[in-house]
Amino acid sequence: MESQPYAGQVALVTGAASGIGRAVALRLAREGAAVALLDVDAAGAAETERLVRALETPVRTVAVTVDVSEAAQVRAAVERAVAALGTPAILVNCAGISRGGPVANLDDDDWERVQAVNLRGTFLCCKAVTPLMTAAGYGRVVNISSGTGVRVGPGSGAYAASKAGVIALTKALAGELATAGVTANVVAPGITDTAMTRGAFGTRAAIEESARTGRIANPMGVVLEPEDIAAAVAFFALPESGRITGQTLHVNAGAYMP
Ligand code: NAP
Repeated sequence: MESQPYAGQVALVTGAASGIGRAVALRLAREGAAVALLDVDAAGAAETERLVRALETPVRTVAVTVDVSEAAQVRAAVERAVAALGTPAILVNCAGISRGGPVANLDDDDWERVQAVNLRGTFLCCKAVTPLMTAAGYGRVVNISSGTGVRVGPGSGAYAASKAGVIALTKALAGELATAGVTANVVAPGITDTAMTRGAFGTRAAIEESARTGRIANPMGVVLEPEDIAAAVAFFALPESGRITGQTLHVNAGAYMP
């Protein structure tokens, strides 16, 4: 059996139906956490639930369908997760979308939707869950931003603004929760092979080419896997990471060194 640093804890993971969110949920579950799997994609979340139940040491789990941009849905989803599993010790906000284009051509609705899911969704989930953590005197919040939230290129205005916002929001939260036993940190992934990147690049080969030679190339010349990002999330979620807060950890194979 692997080490179980999260045994007895509940983790709530958004975007858990796919990619990085699924890898985070599986990593935390493998190491003992009961996992609430929140996503707008019910079928994908059900598949993650199946994978959690198939682990060598299965943990309690529940899949909850929710659009994280809708306040009432978020409150109901958190209530459902708490009723099923108990108060979350860990909150990981992975749900996200990417829509792009130069500012002059950017569709207003695309701008709104990207902010609504990536930034408002993160805010709403933090707002719903952190009071429970404060009341319990313990919590680990990990928000997923992006390298694009810091190193911004042309055509990424909506996405970059939302991801820069996630970093700023997390810093504010870290200060507010500092004396409550609750930390808030950011993981900023580089180019990672998920449905989101497959949608943008088309093929694994095109993602690899971009990692080697594109604008966001990295010196290792590698494409990251969702498990690489999950490892950084798991680090922030550890009980012994309690003195680390308000930080952004870039997992990008050296593409950007702040
Ligand atoms: P992904 O495979 O597309 O997973 C994102 C998940 O979020 C999907 O299941 C998606 O459902 C769900 N989602 C979208 N809108 C939602 C909403 N309103 N409410 C609830 N769930 C929603 O993408 P990923 O690459 O794992 O992305 C995870 C996070 O990492 C995102 O925040 C992304 O911005 C960030 N990130 C990714 C990369 C990368 O290279 N992949 C790099 C930097 C940052 P649907 O599929 O139905 O939309």
